[in-house]
Amino acid sequence: MLEVSGLSVSYSGIRALKDVSLTVGKGEIFALIGPNGAGKSTLLNTLSGMVQAQTGHARFDGVELIGRPAHRIARAGLIQVPEGRQVIAPLTVRENLELGRIAAGTRSGDRNALDRVHDLFPVLAERRTQLAGSLSGGQQQMLAIGRALMGAPRILLLDEPSLGLAPVIVREVFDALLRLNASGLTILLVEQNAKLALETAHHAAILEMGRVVMRGTAADLAHDPLVVDHYLGRT
Ligand code: ATP
Repeated sequence: MLEVSGLSVSYSGIRALKDVSLTVGKGEIFALIGPNGAGKSTLLNTLSGMVQAQTGHARFDGVELIGRPAHRIARAGLIQVPEGRQVIAPLTVRENLELGRIAAGTRSGDRNALDRVHDLFPVLAERRTQLAGSLSGGQQQMLAIGRALMGAPRILLLDEPSLGLAPVIVREVFDALLRLNASGLTILLVEQNAKLALETAHHAAILEMGRVVMRGTAADLAHDPLVVDHYLGRT
């Protein structure tokens, strides 16, 4: 479904991604893990068209994403939940959700999207007239995911959805991701919490200093001694 090959990205001459290749299959959860500064956000931002690649390809159902403007990528069904949520604080919950629909453009959409978001996160229905800035961190993360879902994604990209959230809220957010995946949504997840990521995903890759240093099934990676030493001991 999503095939990334030979992707390299530099910021002012400094390489952030070096020859990255990976494949995300339809209907799976693919996790990208790695330390701070490894290039995980850069990869998501390149796929969603917010950062320009110097070389390489990213084909989404055969369509080249590299070089396309971000709004066209979103309209093609690749939608990102940004790091830090980035909800619009002075707008209401409902208005933030509507922005997700607008960002997805006139693509023949799905009228039940709002109902589905409310089913997934009932708190967003309860608080629909409340300002987004007044929500807790966990509720803002749910809103950020809900906003992305309003664009009827075919693949959802998430950048550190657990960041700064209490464990019980993280569980709630990840249960929602599992439910979305069970209903057929493909997910590409960037997550520093390697244990959580490998428990959730089907396949995963480890990025270090801009390169993919390991990839495989999440179960295999979770048992790999190097992964256990470097990533699972700490979480
Ligand atoms: P984190 O978990 O800290 O977000 P990450 O794995 O997502 O880390 P990136 O944010 O993609 O890593 O950063 C990869 C490298 O690119 C880092 O060295 C970072 O300092 C650099 N970088 C990221 N964004 C920019 C930018 N806009 N301009 C210049 N350098 C950048």
